[in-house]
Amino acid sequence: MIVTPWKVSGDVDYNRLIERFGTRPLIRGLLDRLGRHAGHLHLQLRRGIFFSHRDLDWWLDMYEAGQPVGLYTGRGPSGPVHLGHLLPWFFTKYLQDAFGAELYFQMTDDEKFLIHPDLSLDDTVGYTYENALDLIACGLDPEKTHIISDVNNIGHLYKLALRVAKRVTYSTIKAVFGLTDSDNIGIIWFPAIQAVPCFIQSAREGRNVAVLIPAAIDQDPYWRMTRDIAEKLGYYKPAQMHAKFLPGLGRGGKMSASMPETAIFTIDPPEAAAKKVMSAFTGGRPTVREQQELGGDPSICTIYAYYYYLFEEDDAKLAKLERDCRSGAIICGECKARLAEIIKRFLADFQRKREKARDLLDQFLLK
Ligand code: SF4
Repeated sequence: MIVTPWKVSGDVDYNRLIERFGTRPLIRGLLDRLGRHAGHLHLQLRRGIFFSHRDLDWWLDMYEAGQPVGLYTGRGPSGPVHLGHLLPWFFTKYLQDAFGAELYFQMTDDEKFLIHPDLSLDDTVGYTYENALDLIACGLDPEKTHIISDVNNIGHLYKLALRVAKRVTYSTIKAVFGLTDSDNIGIIWFPAIQAVPCFIQSAREGRNVAVLIPAAIDQDPYWRMTRDIAEKLGYYKPAQMHAKFLPGLGRGGKMSASMPETAIFTIDPPEAAAKKVMSAFTGGRPTVREQQELGGDPSICTIYAYYYYLFEEDDAKLAKLERDCRSGAIICGECKARLAEIIKRFLADFQRKREKARDLLDQFLLK
């Protein structure tokens, strides 16, 4: 298993990651507190998709004591957005609604330029604004959301980045991120930029704000480094919530833009996305007859995973699907066709919202 900010491969064992990264599992008491403030428990909490944290209990204490709280997450804009990217963004909207928090959303168009040999600055900055449409389509509050382009907003970031950079040594960066002498110097500097949104709200408001970062667990090394220096700069350590990865439609592995045939992009024509679903890897048997007699295996099925992660909100219906699959009462063709229809409707609706977002974009950009 490899899990770094740039590479995820192998079968990811999330319990081992909790141990290896030194994070804490999201336990019932914390879920109850989140649910109490939000009015309901998000699907991604009920089903353990957000599974680990650092200092979430402290962040909730701060909120409950009436102290200012904020949110920070982001995206590396290297191509179109897929469903795996949307997963934590939907959850971030839930947190923003529940806590009325400001969100600083960082587009790391500088990092993507630095690490992708084939991408120009125009490419990555262009993706910043295209990907921002997807974020806005998730329904975030324009009054409370600030989208940062590292390249175009460097004036807002630079002083804080310098303060971070002065506190972090090259040997720390090499150890935390596994960099080598042949990596370019931009990548060595970049973690200072990625740390800035942890502190930017505090700096802009002139008071210390408790920040929570909801993101996939592969980004954890950035915040380990940031937490080490936060207090030396006079700010709180950022709290974190870690999400699992949405699987791709193939056998094993997370959804990845580098395997477009097994990823569903938000800009895919709905019919094309439906075709990908119909070709997905399932936990079914080689023949209908065997499946009816022996049942399928939802634990390895990508179709079941999509119902689980995103498309079956009702826990009772999800449990029935699992039972029906295991008993052979449902067969894969029917199960896939139903999901394909759901995804077609989802994409048609999302793409309408995404187009409307073009008129709203300016309201969301960091000023
Ligand atoms: S019936 Fe549905 S859940 Fe079960 S293996 Fe087939 S596609 Fe997957």
